[in-house]
Amino acid sequence: MIFRQLFDPETSSYSYLLADERTREAVLIDSVMGQLERDLALVRELELRLLYALETHVHADHVTAAGRLREALGARVAVGERSGVRNADQLLRDGEWLAFGGHRLEARATPGHTGGCMTFVADSLAFTGDALLIRGCGRTDFQDGDSATLYRSVHERILSLPETTALYPAHDYRGRTSTTVAEELRHNPRLGSTKSKEAFVQLMAELRLAYPKRMDEAVPANLYAGLGPDASPSPHAVADVMQQLGRQDAAENWLGAGI
Ligand code: FE
Repeated sequence: MIFRQLFDPETSSYSYLLADERTREAVLIDSVMGQLERDLALVRELELRLLYALETHVHADHVTAAGRLREALGARVAVGERSGVRNADQLLRDGEWLAFGGHRLEARATPGHTGGCMTFVADSLAFTGDALLIRGCGRTDFQDGDSATLYRSVHERILSLPETTALYPAHDYRGRTSTTVAEELRHNPRLGSTKSKEAFVQLMAELRLAYPKRMDEAVPANLYAGLGPDASPSPHAVADVMQQLGRQDAAENWLGAGI
């Protein structure tokens, strides 16, 4: 399998390109709008046919390039059925499989960071989004996040994979690139094998995290696969989304902008 880990330094985001060597069919997980040209060039240079632009979840820190990849390459935008994305080509159910060449990728629902998070498993690699980070995990305080749900997702759907499974997160802020199930069971300070659900829920409740800088821009864009002003929803539709996220002030801003 062709496998490339791609990095966006501005948001410390990873994207992952997987492809079948023989058929050249490919999938790209968690693309970043700011890296669209780089990724289009790579797909072309490797002579790949991008079948799917996959999203592990609706990101709050960067805008996805999935919609643009669809426009440019005819890829299908595929996201979790509970992600809330309005213009996806395929809504993935828990346990659903996608094929690219001779490879198969399994979509596993791993809610908790957001309500619609998916982890993608291909061969002996798992792409965990923000559900499980290296020695950490995504926050659980917005976008339908829930700590007890995340604990269950990580233990039942990710750390239950074979111990040698390589895990690739959506972000790392310290230059690390991957981990394994065995490593996280042993060394993850939040979700390792010795940590109880109760301790995890308490720890997450006590985090005092700043509101993500780009959330009001990124979430509405990502609910439409990252498409720009021409394909953007009306301010009323965005306000509706922000309201659902409990962001009354942002909703009012969008309504103000639309008048
Ligand atoms: Fe996230």
